[in-house]
Amino acid sequence: AKELGKNNYQFFTKDMNEIIANKMNLELGLRKALINEEFELYYQPQVDVGTGKIKGMEALIRWQHPEHGLVPPNQFIPLAEETGLIIPIGKWVMQTACEQAKKWEVMLHRPLRVSVNISALQFQQTDFTEVVKEVLETTKLPASSLELELTESIVQDPEQALPVMNQLKEMGVLLSLDDFGTGYSSLSYLRSFPLDTLKIDKLFIDNMNDVKDDAIVRTIISMANSLELNVIAEGVETVDQLTSLAGKACDEYQGYLFSKPVPHQDLEKILQANTST
Ligand code: C2E
Ligand code: CA
Ligand code: CA
Ligand code: CA
Repeated sequence: AKELGKNNYQFFTKDMNEIIANKMNLELGLRKALINEEFELYYQPQVDVGTGKIKGMEALIRWQHPEHGLVPPNQFIPLAEETGLIIPIGKWVMQTACEQAKKWEVMLHRPLRVSVNISALQFQQTDFTEVVKEVLETTKLPASSLELELTESIVQDPEQALPVMNQLKEMGVLLSLDDFGTGYSSLSYLRSFPLDTLKIDKLFIDNMNDVKDDAIVRTIISMANSLELNVIAEGVETVDQLTSLAGKACDEYQGYLFSKPVPHQDLEKILQANTST
């Protein structure tokens, strides 16, 4: 038993060392990625349920790793948040997305909304609204074309969040609540925030063939509509889901059914085809 205990201990330390080493490597990699410009934005269209027209697109970060290839955000955003690297990364995302949206606006002669994911740590920086202002000024993108996707963890602290949200609203920026339904906030609670858009989490869309989940989606949409919020369904993969959402008066949808997130060159082609039809 003593032997086993010793071995377990050794295994444990070896694993721990490995975890720590991996983390340090990843952190180092992230720092290099910023300097070497290894990040890239993919864009996923947000489409009008009724007309099929693209209303906007969500910018989603990817890491083009020199050895590992394309790394999805779930594999590095958590560590970026833990280390604070999400602050420079997040600023790069906002700047790049707004520059791109401005190009598309000029190309298509119509305003197009770009949505950017904001981490809690980013939102909590005292200069957050200044960063947003600076990005809008340098890119010349109208404030009403930028939507910030906030999570329920951000609005959980209303004393901190409300003044910042109000400032952003005064600037004309749009605010969206991401992953709605996965946290604890109720729609009545949401009324106290100056939100423009509500995004229903994929989890509910996936389960709409279940009578109860279908009722939840219907209720969320009808309440959001009565609060005059723009409602976007996330993760729509099938025609059945889209038909069901149309019947519930959902405003917009996003999902593989229309398009996966794609590089800007590909989104440009999708935009051109969508505009000419
Ligand atoms: P999210 O904000 O909820 O983004 C939606 C995710 O769902 C994206 O994954 C998208 O590719 C995926 N998705 C969209 N439609 C479908 C569908 O029909 N089926 C399926 N199975 N998936 C679909 P992605 O790009 O891997 O991003 C994952 C998460 O990483 C995002 O979730 C967001 O929380 C975070 N993230 C991505 N980019 C950024 C960023 O620039 N900053 C921050 N802070 N977080 C980011
Ligand atoms: Ca999002
Ligand atoms: Ca989401
Ligand atoms: Ca989600």
